[in-house]
Amino acid sequence: MVADPDSIKTLPRLKISLRPTAESIVRGGHPWIYSDSIRSQNREGEAGELAVIYDRRDKFLAVGFFDPDSPLRVRILHVGKPATLDEAWWQARLDEALGHRETIADARTSGLRLINGESDGWPGLVLDRYDTTLVLKLYTPAWLSRLTMLERMITATLQPERLILRLSRNLQVKAAAQECPGDGQILYGPTLEGVVTFLESGLHFEADVLHGQKTGFFLDQRENRRRVEGFARGADVLNAFSFTGGFSLYAARGGAKSVTDLDISAHALAAAARNFSLNLANPQVAACEHRTIQADAFKWLEKASPSQFDVVVMDPPSLAKRETERSGAIQAYTKLNANGIRLLKPGGVLVAASCSAHVSTEEFFGAVRLAANKSGRRFDELDTTRHAPDHHASFPEAHYLKCLYLRVF
Ligand code: SAH
Repeated sequence: MVADPDSIKTLPRLKISLRPTAESIVRGGHPWIYSDSIRSQNREGEAGELAVIYDRRDKFLAVGFFDPDSPLRVRILHVGKPATLDEAWWQARLDEALGHRETIADARTSGLRLINGESDGWPGLVLDRYDTTLVLKLYTPAWLSRLTMLERMITATLQPERLILRLSRNLQVKAAAQECPGDGQILYGPTLEGVVTFLESGLHFEADVLHGQKTGFFLDQRENRRRVEGFARGADVLNAFSFTGGFSLYAARGGAKSVTDLDISAHALAAAARNFSLNLANPQVAACEHRTIQADAFKWLEKASPSQFDVVVMDPPSLAKRETERSGAIQAYTKLNANGIRLLKPGGVLVAASCSAHVSTEEFFGAVRLAANKSGRRFDELDTTRHAPDHHASFPEAHYLKCLYLRVF
């Protein structure tokens, strides 16, 4: 079977040419073409069909998914020599993505990202593994008409117990209109009530794969959590924007005296409590005092009394969902982390993370350093980190996650 559903249509191939700058950007491997980069196209395109990009000498340059409803008009699948995007081609892409993970997985970690969107050559598609359950999350409509192929290839190659479909909000409406499977639908395998459990660095966690944020867990913070475990012994830890307590469990296993989870979501805090229960066989986790505070962290941090904690983890949701929110987000990061620093005892560590793609690494680190300078306290930069290896980012816009570790005296 040919993967491209429009191969059975009678319409001529959708052909596109680009403005010169965009042409070089695509040649350089960037996977996105915005509508204002398009110089000409031979006809109107339909959502999800393949668009072939020709260069200024009318030679094949690239091929990608077309989306007439998005300013991100083409998502590139292949650049270079002409290729047939048949099932064998996709299978090779899948094997390649899985091959990159072979050295990352280990027996103590069964939660892993297997496909990370454009950075793995699969635009707008994420595949996460939670033990024997796979979660396929789609962000672009082109995949809806290719679901059968995806399901067949993924289940044949990875042999999961179960494959679950998750859809971004804009796709949920489109899927309903096209009578496609919807968000949270099980594409393959047995039904599921509630959550699945999996291992991360030997710790047990639950993931709400049917309804939770992203695919049910923030797998992207694994490496930062491992670091936090390394300096938590005897510490009183605040995990601000804790979600389901990912950082907290590592801190507890690292010997933290107490861990306080702070989140606005009662649902997330209840899951954090269950995650602690799942790990009580570990003596350090069992000995750690676990508290939860359900509050708006921005307000709570303003009012909290100073010098209470030895470690403060500050991992808010994206504060800049669009470019226009960038400068407000930078100010918000300074304020949040100023409060984080205020809550630290002398010698304590601030773990400041940002997942805002519109705030650059330098802007974010600058915001946190400004907060540290303004505190008037002496501080050391212990470390800076970027993406986890299973979340590798191949182009600038994909680099959303950054984290700065400060010891404050
Ligand atoms: N650090 C977490 C991921 C954080 S996701 C981990 O390692 O898994 C962001 C979290 O911020 C979500 O749980 C969300 O419920 C919470 N959140 C969003 N707005 C908030 C607010 N104003 N106050 C407190 N928590 C908030």
